Amino acid sequence: MQKPELLAPAGDMEKLKMAVRYGADAVYLGSNDFSLRAQAKNFTDEQLTEAIDFAHSHGVKVYLTVNVYPQEQHLADLRALLVKAAGMGVDAFIVADPGVFRMAAEVAPQVQRHISTQANCTNSQTAEFWREQGASRVILGREVSLENCRQMAARVPIELEIFVHGAVCMSYSGRCLLSSFLTGRSANLGDCAQPCRWQYRLEEARRPGAYMPIEEDRWGSYIFNSKDLCLIELLPEILQAGVASLKIEGRMKSAYYVANVTRIYRQALDSCWAVWENLAEKSAAACRQNWQFDADWLAELGKISHRKYFTGFAQSEPGAEAYVYDTTYSFRGYDFAGVVQDYDAERKRVLIEQRNLLTLGDEVEIISPKLPPLPLKISGIWSEDGEELTRLPHARQIAWLACDTPLPEGSIIRRAVPEERRPELSACSLLQNDTEGGCSCNE
Ligand code: SF4
Repeated sequence: MQKPELLAPAGDMEKLKMAVRYGADAVYLGSNDFSLRAQAKNFTDEQLTEAIDFAHSHGVKVYLTVNVYPQEQHLADLRALLVKAAGMGVDAFIVADPGVFRMAAEVAPQVQRHISTQANCTNSQTAEFWREQGASRVILGREVSLENCRQMAARVPIELEIFVHGAVCMSYSGRCLLSSFLTGRSANLGDCAQPCRWQYRLEEARRPGAYMPIEEDRWGSYIFNSKDLCLIELLPEILQAGVASLKIEGRMKSAYYVANVTRIYRQALDSCWAVWENLAEKSAAACRQNWQFDADWLAELGKISHRKYFTGFAQSEPGAEAYVYDTTYSFRGYDFAGVVQDYDAERKRVLIEQRNLLTLGDEVEIISPKLPPLPLKISGIWSEDGEELTRLPHARQIAWLACDTPLPEGSIIRRAVPEERRPELSACSLLQNDTEGGCSCNE
C-alpha cells in the first residue's frame, strides 16, 4: 500500500500556489470551458501552462476537470481542449461522460483518466467496469462508507479517491436538479445557485400567497442545508480502507481556506502515516492506539469558514443530525487579511498584498506552510514606496508591515472576527463549520 495522496482544489492561480506551498501532492483545476465550476475563475491557456509548470517544478501533479456532460455542439472544442492540455503536460483528466472518456483515450492515450464523482461509482462492479475500460482511478460517490471502500479496494486493482473535507450536497452525488428547476442554473454544468441552503416556507393549496414559516426555532429552518464533511479524525480508518487519494473540496473557496485546510490535512496525514507504516499488523484499531491526534488540527479547521462538521456516510448513514436547520450562514472566525510576497531582512519588514482592512495596532496572526501560527501586532505600515501609513483601506494594496520574523512568500495574515460580527449559531461547538459555493456533488 502506498501513502495516499493529498489532493487540493485550485480554483485559480493563487489558490494553486497556496495548495502547492501548503503541502498538496496533487491539485485539481478547470479550464475556462468544460469544468464543473462555472462561477470559479478557472484557468486560461496561458495560466494553465504556468500552473502546470509551477506544480511540476514542486513535484505536484495536476488533474484537469472535464467532467461536463457535453452536447453535440461541444465536441469539437472539447477535443481541442484535451489535445492542448495533454500537450501542456497535465497528469490526468477527470471525466464523467463515457464519450469524453473515449475521446480522451483517442487523442491523449498517455494521460491517465480519473472517473469523476459525477459518474456515481459506488460499488466494485462499476469500478471494475471502469478499470476494464482503461481508467486508472475512480472518485467515489460520497455515499460510499469506508467499509464499502475497503471492500472495493480489496476486490478491484484501481485507485480509489474519496472526499475528506468540504461542503456536501443534500442530494445523491451529481444528481441534483433543484438549482436547474428553481433558478435555471444547472448544478450539473457547474453553476449551482445552492438552493438547498435557502430557507423554505409552507403554502396551503387553497390559500395562495399565505406563506407559513417552518420553524425549528426563532432562526427559521433550513431543511436541506447539509453540514460540511470533515474526516480528519478518521484517518486510521481511511488508511485501512486502502484509499489512494484524499480530496479536499472547494475550488470556489478562498486562498486562505485552501492553504489552511491543506496545511492541516498534510500534518495529520503525515503523522498518521508515520504510525501506520510501522505497524506490524495494519489495522485502524492498532493505528488509533498509537496515533496522537492533535486537538489543534480540529481547532484550526474551525478557523476557516465552515458549517457544522460531520463525518458524512463514512461510518454510517447520516440521519437528521446531518443538517443545519437553524441558519444558512457559515461560521467564520477569521478574516483573510493579506498574503506575504517578500521579506526585507535588513529593515525587518514584510511586503504584503492586503485583502481586508488593516490598521496600525491591529492584532493579527500569520500562518505559513512550515511554522506554527504566529501572533503579530502591527506596529508599522508603509506604502510600497516607503511612505508611512496608519491603515490600508483599499483592496489589494501592496504595503510593508513591520515584522521581526522572516516570513516565506505565501504566508497568510488572518485576523479574528469580533464576536459581534460572527453569525449566530445556536449550538456552536468546535465540530461545527467559505460558503462561496460548491459542494462535493461534483469536482
Ligand atoms: S449544493 Fe448540491 S444539493 Fe445543493 S442545490 Fe446545489 S447541487 Fe443541489
